[in-house]
Amino acid sequence: MKLLLIGPPGSGKGTQGQLLSERFNLLHIATGDLLRAEVEALTPIGKEVVDYLDRGELVPDDVIVDLVMPVIFDAVEKGGYVLDGFPRSVGQAKVVRQMSDDDLNATPDAVIYLDVSRDELVRRILERAKVEDRSDDTEAVISNRLQVFEEATHPLVSYYRLRGVVRTINANCSEEEVATSIIESLGDLVPN
Ligand code: ADP
Repeated sequence: MKLLLIGPPGSGKGTQGQLLSERFNLLHIATGDLLRAEVEALTPIGKEVVDYLDRGELVPDDVIVDLVMPVIFDAVEKGGYVLDGFPRSVGQAKVVRQMSDDDLNATPDAVIYLDVSRDELVRRILERAKVEDRSDDTEAVISNRLQVFEEATHPLVSYYRLRGVVRTINANCSEEEVATSIIESLGDLVPN
């Protein structure tokens, strides 16, 4: 099973991605985590992307594609993935489609859109900022990340809706309630 989580910062993609990957024994691929690991390890990629992360801007497509596509294909060969953070724009989704073929198809079976009100998002991220130390959890950068989501990522929902794979989830509620709605929404995709 190949699941893609789409949602604004603070919508719970990371939490739900973790839960779903454990429940269905799928590899959880969180591109923000992969990029932050590169930054911490001071790799050439890390040095190239650090400023984008700090500003809340998307890193260039070629960088993220080279980093994540091999991991995705590996996961597909092993039975599927839970993807959190990629594709993050229609352009990136097209790359996934173009790089796929009948033998190795990396396109998602289901796209879970976590819908959360803006007030709730800001509240959650500022709460998280007290316990985690992410350089992009300041009010100005949060606001930029929300704008980047609206402009670059939200159009992906329509892109995948045309392909009939979107499940929209009201994610304003508790982690457990959101997880239950996601699993219900997957219907026949869920293995018995
Ligand atoms: P959030 O969804 O809370 O903003 P993430 O951890 O998913 O956080 O992403 C953090 C940052 O990593 C993004 O603001 C962006 O700079 C970068 N990033 C993650 N995934 C991608 C991607 N697919 N394309 C470009 N940049 C990305």
